Amino acid sequence: IQWEKQVRTSAQIHRSGGISVLVTGATGFVGSHVSLALRKRGDGVVGLDNFNNYYDPSLKRARRSLLSSRGIFVVEGDLNDAKLLAKLFDVVAFTHVMHLAAQAGVRYALENPQSYVHSNIAGLVNLLEICKAANPQPAIVWASSSSVYGLNEKVPFSESDRTDQPASLYAATKKAGEEITHTYNHIYGLAITGLRFFTVYGPWGRPDMAYFSFTRNILQGKPITIYRGKNRVDLARDFTYIDDIVKGCLGSLDSSGKSTGSGGKKRGAAPYRIFNLGNTSPVTVPILVDILEKHLKVKAKRNFVEMPGNGDVPFTHANISSARNEFGYKPTTDLETGLKKFVRWYLSYYGYNTKAKLVH
Ligand code: NAD
Repeated sequence: IQWEKQVRTSAQIHRSGGISVLVTGATGFVGSHVSLALRKRGDGVVGLDNFNNYYDPSLKRARRSLLSSRGIFVVEGDLNDAKLLAKLFDVVAFTHVMHLAAQAGVRYALENPQSYVHSNIAGLVNLLEICKAANPQPAIVWASSSSVYGLNEKVPFSESDRTDQPASLYAATKKAGEEITHTYNHIYGLAITGLRFFTVYGPWGRPDMAYFSFTRNILQGKPITIYRGKNRVDLARDFTYIDDIVKGCLGSLDSSGKSTGSGGKKRGAAPYRIFNLGNTSPVTVPILVDILEKHLKVKAKRNFVEMPGNGDVPFTHANISSARNEFGYKPTTDLETGLKKFVRWYLSYYGYNTKAKLVH
């Protein structure tokens, strides 16, 4: 009863025309930011997360405290728990699902391939089954990834470009997710939007990502490993600031259209959409390190290594005209500004003073 009450209260909408959203992966990096933004504009938000230990779960717990301080309840549970999901949909008629829970990262697939299948394939299907059966059905917006472009060499990447050369199991599961969601769209009338995020960074970010681990090592005086492609070509990424991604997520939720089925039966065609959410200005990794050094006021010990060829791609670059035309997506934060905000957050979160000296 207590649990139900917390879920109901958290799902309450505080503005006219607002939506009630189940955010999966709510204590993850992107999920926590999206949840806060939805709540801020008065939407109902209920989170779901399994708090797995892919990276330091204390960071997820800290994000949960932040969400809870804004009245957002996060249910602790797994995407694969059909009973739990069904119970959530019994308690709340969610209008939207923002599906951000996944096994992220490309290199971890070498160690634990099954976790990608568990969360990105089985967990996704379980969630879709629940959404399909719900009455009314929610509209679904979910995170695919720029990694689906794989070894595609035509830049910038457009949504219609080939995605048949994944360079990692992670990318393969995201590509599979696009096919799976498309199937649920045309069989069951679920409105689906897939967002291909391009290397998202910012405060409360993911410790397994390069900009984050570089920052940690630079501050601790440890060397950083910088991958390079063949012939010493620098890798480049279309680094996208979290606030821009959040705006893209909200824009796609608002324009998602409606699901047309209920109780597993389709009553008409529902929209199926895929959008790139990037920054359209790739930066090389050594330049990223230059910017970090500048903001941290500490020199990095750079160790260049040839890219092992087991997951990373040489470069990414988004064409964002579809998202711009459809819901006015327009990234506004450049890497220099975004990293400044990240560094400020990092120093304060990990107890450094402004001169980057550890104080507690
Ligand atoms: P994250 O790891 O911080 O967040 C994912 C959250 O999902 C975590 O809190 C994790 O505990 C939770 N989770 C994982 N498996 C689960 C399961 N089976 N059941 C319940 N919860 C589960 O990652 P993020 O960077 O916030 O990424 C969010 C989404 O965006 C993911 O789908 C990711 O693949 C995608 N994406 C991220 C980036 C990026 O640069 N951050 C780029 C492309 C795509």
